[in-house]
Amino acid sequence: MKIPAVKGFRDVLPDESIRWAVLEERARTVFHRYNFREVRIPIVERTELFQRSIGETTDIVEKEMYTFTDKDGTQLTLRPEGTASVVRAYVEHALAQRERVSKWYYFGPMFRRERPQKGRLRQFSQIGAEVLGRDDAAADAEMLFLLYDLLAAFAVDGAEVQLNSLGCQACRPGYREALVHWGRAHFTELCDDCRRRLDQNPLRLLDCKQPGCLAIRDSAPRMLDHLCAECGAHFARVRELLRREGMQPTINPYMVRGLDYYCRTAFEVVARGLGAQNALGGGGRYDGLVRALGGPDVAGVGFALGVERLVMVLGERALDVDIRPEVVLLPVGDEGEAVAVELAHRWRAGGVRVEVESAGRSLKSQMRQADKHGTRFAIIVGEEELAGRALTIRDMEARRDHPRALGLDLTADGLRAALARLGA
Ligand code: AMP
Repeated sequence: MKIPAVKGFRDVLPDESIRWAVLEERARTVFHRYNFREVRIPIVERTELFQRSIGETTDIVEKEMYTFTDKDGTQLTLRPEGTASVVRAYVEHALAQRERVSKWYYFGPMFRRERPQKGRLRQFSQIGAEVLGRDDAAADAEMLFLLYDLLAAFAVDGAEVQLNSLGCQACRPGYREALVHWGRAHFTELCDDCRRRLDQNPLRLLDCKQPGCLAIRDSAPRMLDHLCAECGAHFARVRELLRREGMQPTINPYMVRGLDYYCRTAFEVVARGLGAQNALGGGGRYDGLVRALGGPDVAGVGFALGVERLVMVLGERALDVDIRPEVVLLPVGDEGEAVAVELAHRWRAGGVRVEVESAGRSLKSQMRQADKHGTRFAIIVGEEELAGRALTIRDMEARRDHPRALGLDLTADGLRAALARLGA
């Protein structure tokens, strides 16, 4: 009986995983240019970490976490996002005492029990970045530059960056009150979810996708009109720094992000051609979070990009990596096998990508296999060839044999020189 994968959990097979590898490699290059270093955080955390950081009334904590009781009674959760774990690690290892600013990036799977659909999985992967220890607008701007540079490095075009400010402890309560007031006045027009959210998490009213709620959204008060002087200046400075570099993200006053800990700058990247799940990533500032998790009063700003969605928008576009074997060895007979194995070992040690077919199969079937690898050059290693002390290189593309193309120099360099003579 076959056992299928769990709904919402998918395999990434080699044709696709090469795209992941390229994305990660390019991301690392860009992160290192910005002096970010990698942190590897666990997949499982105590449930209370997410309850306290993401917020009790968010969709994630209310209904999407994979939570279980460990054998010793501890409540554990598969991490639904990375920031909470990063901050937990930052606090646990007292990083604030060691360095004034920590700039970290991470890759890895996240788990949310959402309804699976195109672009929405229960296990998905994120590339994330966090800066701890900077509360100035230049840090937010740097995060946005980093985000733009990553998108450029991934050759994602047509993505739109949206920006908003969510205010702070000083100005958000007043705004929240105005929003609740507005919500009550429109109570009959709101969907059931929003009626419920009105008391618990009224900001979520703004990103409700129900047609009825969307229709009246324009009349809702906007956080941007309620920012205190400091938040207003911070937001203006972020925009100014971006503008000077020619970047003008779209202002979206309805973007609130799904997590409670954000304050001030919030942003999202949306892509065309992804359908309903069009967010490639998002992030923002979370100045109270380190403290809320038992650390010092250290500010933070970060974002995460969804790898599956990035891979989807990259589509079939060519990636400039070639991992196909450069040469395939086709051994005939026991002696051919022994020599092919030895040559392959030597050439691989010399940095050449080599595949060896199995000697037990007919030469014809070995050739077919070599074709499948998409490799241009094949070398037959049989009794005759060995006796002649010179090997024939077969150009699989031109369908042409080059007898004695590989002579006495059987080192990796000798092979390279021979392939170069044939136009490799
Ligand atoms: P969030 O932490 O919700 O802001 O998510 C950041 C990014 O992760 C999103 O913009 C998506 O690209 C990706 N993402 C979030 N949830 C899912 C999911 N269920 N399936 C696939 N990708 C997701």
